[in-house]
Amino acid sequence: MILFDLKCENNHVFEAWFKDSEAFKSQSEKGIVSCPNCGSMSVKKALMAPNVSLANSEKKKVTTNDLAKVQQLLSEAQKTVEENFDYVGKDFAKEARKIHYGESEKKNIYGEASETDSKSLKDEGIAFNQIPWKPKADA
Ligand SMILES: [Zn+2]
Repeated sequence: MILFDLKCENNHVFEAWFKDSEAFKSQSEKGIVSCPNCGSMSVKKALMAPNVSLANSEKKKVTTNDLAKVQQLLSEAQKTVEENFDYVGKDFAKEARKIHYGESEKKNIYGEASETDSKSLKDEGIAFNQIPWKPKADA
């Protein structure tokens, strides 16, 4: 069974079930299909609004070139961090907390944080950013 949106000559839109589109065609040709509002037998399939999500249709194709650009940006971000931030390693959460609560001088730090650490930092309202980190080639 197929549910069709139908429209009569007076622009009444209604729904009706048919076995298949052939059944609709033959029934409307025989004048069996009529509008429940005005009784008109001049009934056509209504144009349905395309049920396509915009996000999907506008998703652009990602090329290897795009990925290379992202990689490039990430490398640059990583370089900036390495040059301007103090590395605190696995103590990141501890250090970030100290700075946040004024126990340490304000400074830029970077390091590793576990998922649990990240979550509790967020819960405490401590601002930080996460970027995908590429292991150093010489590490
Ligand atoms: Zn009608």
